[in-house]
Amino acid sequence: MTPSRNLNIVVAEARVQRPGAEVPGCIMKSYDVCQCGEPLQLSEKPTPQPTGTQVLLRTVAAGVCHSDLHLSDGYFDLGGGKRLMLSDRGIKLPMTMGHENVGDVVGFGPDARGVKTGDRRLLHPWMGCGECAVCKLGEEQLCLTPRSLGVFTAGGYSDYVLVPHPRYLFDIGDLAPEKAAPLACSGITTYGALKKVGSLLKTEPIVIIGAGGLGLMCLGLHKAMDGRGAIVVDIDPAKRDAAKNAGALAAIDGAAADALDQIMQAAKGPPWAVIDLVGSSATAQLAVSCVRKGGKVIVVGLYGGDINVPLPSLPMRAITLQGSYTGSLNEMAELLDLVRRKGLPSIPVATRPLAEVNAALADLRAGKVVGRIVLTPAA
Ligand SMILES: [Zn+2]
Ligand SMILES: [Zn+2]
Repeated sequence: MTPSRNLNIVVAEARVQRPGAEVPGCIMKSYDVCQCGEPLQLSEKPTPQPTGTQVLLRTVAAGVCHSDLHLSDGYFDLGGGKRLMLSDRGIKLPMTMGHENVGDVVGFGPDARGVKTGDRRLLHPWMGCGECAVCKLGEEQLCLTPRSLGVFTAGGYSDYVLVPHPRYLFDIGDLAPEKAAPLACSGITTYGALKKVGSLLKTEPIVIIGAGGLGLMCLGLHKAMDGRGAIVVDIDPAKRDAAKNAGALAAIDGAAADALDQIMQAAKGPPWAVIDLVGSSATAQLAVSCVRKGGKVIVVGLYGGDINVPLPSLPMRAITLQGSYTGSLNEMAELLDLVRRKGLPSIPVATRPLAEVNAALADLRAGKVVGRIVLTPAA
């Protein structure tokens, strides 16, 4: 970068810091989904002006999440040939994805309290309207009019991100930004699921299906929460090895004919809870088949498909089949507290420049990514 361009950026940022000020010539670069199923396209727009309680951050780290593949494809598979189209969820194109972000505060509106320029923050992306009863409880991820960053509003595949209120910003202390960024999705998602296991988490072994990035995060957080132990199920031998190395009680091939028996043996009986991080027909069916009386199946993964549940088995076995979607603002605060006390689960992280976002998505789609790719738009 030439010195003169550098100077332009500094001048532009100084202008951004003044609430409500015009920022002529300050261009924000983002990579957007312009057409479903097509590579993201570079777009240059004026950097947004923070007003009211809004905060503008320069993106330091933006994790590339598996769900971005579904978002850029434009649909989720519902099984039986049915699809949930993202346009039906109110997602409009062009869209800037990226929901696992760490940024530095560069500007804020006159009503934004508790922020200052230079603050490095993790962005809680699961934003709701902030007004309804559910949002007021802090469960904004369950709002009926979601504003999630990188899904419904512009996310971190961009050099700047705007958030509507400082309550979505969390201090990461001295954590490396590229390591902290995945806490915004894979961290909070697995923490939210583990919380649903309830008080038996510390006394009963659980089953975690899926040992990819999400699975290793779940295993690490389960340990940090003093979990009794986890049996991990995955069809990929390399991922089973990774789970074993990360401290799983056992790692079982979900495609084995006797997978159910192996789980029962490892758990010394039917397990109390199963967290299904894959969410395919085969994994959810296995989960419902193996869980004990009174137990819980918590479905997190969005692979797609459907299952058949004989209705009498719900009351007779008193099982709970529950979906879990990300986590609340309170859970994000708890998660960061847990990580500060017990350390961050060690997930391999590779950083890449923002301009390589399409290659990163292609590698993820091809199953070539171990752990997480994190983009570094501010680098
Ligand atoms: Zn995600
Ligand atoms: Zn709401």
